[in-house]
Amino acid sequence: MHILVTGGAGYIGSHTSVVLLEAGHEVIIVDNLSNSKIETIDRIKQITKKELIFYQEDVTDEAAVDAIFSNHSFDGVIHFAGFKAVGESVEFPLKYYYNNTVSTMVLAKYCLKYGVKQFVFSSSATVYGENDVPFVETMELLPTTNPYGETKVISERILTDVAKANPDFAVSLLRYFNPVGAHESGLIGEDPQGIPNNLMPYITKVAKGKLEKLRIFGNDYPTPDGTGVRDYIHVMDLAEGHVAALEKLTPGVHVYNLGTGRGISVLELVKTFEEVNGVKVPYEIVGRRPGDIAESYADVSKAKAELGWTAKRGIREMCRDAWRYECGV
Ligand code: NAD
Ligand code: UDP
Repeated sequence: MHILVTGGAGYIGSHTSVVLLEAGHEVIIVDNLSNSKIETIDRIKQITKKELIFYQEDVTDEAAVDAIFSNHSFDGVIHFAGFKAVGESVEFPLKYYYNNTVSTMVLAKYCLKYGVKQFVFSSSATVYGENDVPFVETMELLPTTNPYGETKVISERILTDVAKANPDFAVSLLRYFNPVGAHESGLIGEDPQGIPNNLMPYITKVAKGKLEKLRIFGNDYPTPDGTGVRDYIHVMDLAEGHVAALEKLTPGVHVYNLGTGRGISVLELVKTFEEVNGVKVPYEIVGRRPGDIAESYADVSKAKAELGWTAKRGIREMCRDAWRYECGV
């Protein structure tokens, strides 16, 4: 298949591009490099020893998207491009609503114009809000407490309505839990600009001595050790989930949780990281971070039954590969 990967120079898109190329698909990446580096494109080629086509364009730019679609005959689109920093979305809501929803609308529009019938969308577990765990795809979505989360809910609705109006359009809404880790080579991984917001990149920077200590946001949650519980998933498992979703896609809307189904606390992750990598991660407990929920983990039975996909890599591999990448960059 010829697949357009938007945001393919980014963290999840680059790993998914590797898996797509290794599965024999043709990959065309469009990314404006607003949160990624051009070197990643070469690293993808280096890992896979395959060629790909790269466009440095913004997917909210209709003329640019039209030109890309007219140059190729795509079988499907995987739409990763978007902004993802929760805190920044509270500060600059328009930036987030604009980029994340307009990009989805523009891509859907040109899929319809050029007869591209398969669309895979990067959604997030954040759409579940404070539902009871484990989160199941059939749950009613609850308010997400931040504009970033709302852009995911809105994009899901836009794509659902487009599919309703176009019965041969096939949409897969993939709700990611907490992607961490890196490609086993250590050549590509998560490299946030500035001080990381997310736990794993913060841990690797503390272990490396680039940041003084981890601040653990709260130890008074109703969880076994009081710290927040999340369903961390190795980014390569997540990448493989996309290829499974794409290869099984049929008309209509299909929603899948991509997680491991297992909740891990902040303290458990820190301890495992220290043990696996033989390093220290100094930390202090501070107050809760506004907007955080106590627990988030997936019911993963639907993806297993319908896509034949389950996460294969455990928390130890996630810690090992995140550290490998940190040490290589
Ligand atoms: P990322 O920032 O590493 O990758 C996104 C890529 O999109 C970047 O390379 C950026 O330059 C590009 N981009 C952004 N806006 C663009 C635009 N208008 N036109 C072209 N390119 C654009 O983020 P990621 O972690 O790889 O996330 C990918 C997708 O998955 C995002 O939609 C994100 O919201 C979603 N998601 C991520 C997580 C996570 O924890 N990483 C969790 C759930 C969902
Ligand atoms: N967390 C933390 N310190 C940090 C970053 C995160 O204690 O510097 C905690 C956070 O409160 C949550 C978990 O780690 O319980 C995962 O947070 P992250 O931001 O990585 O993901 P999300 O909140 O989006 O699930």
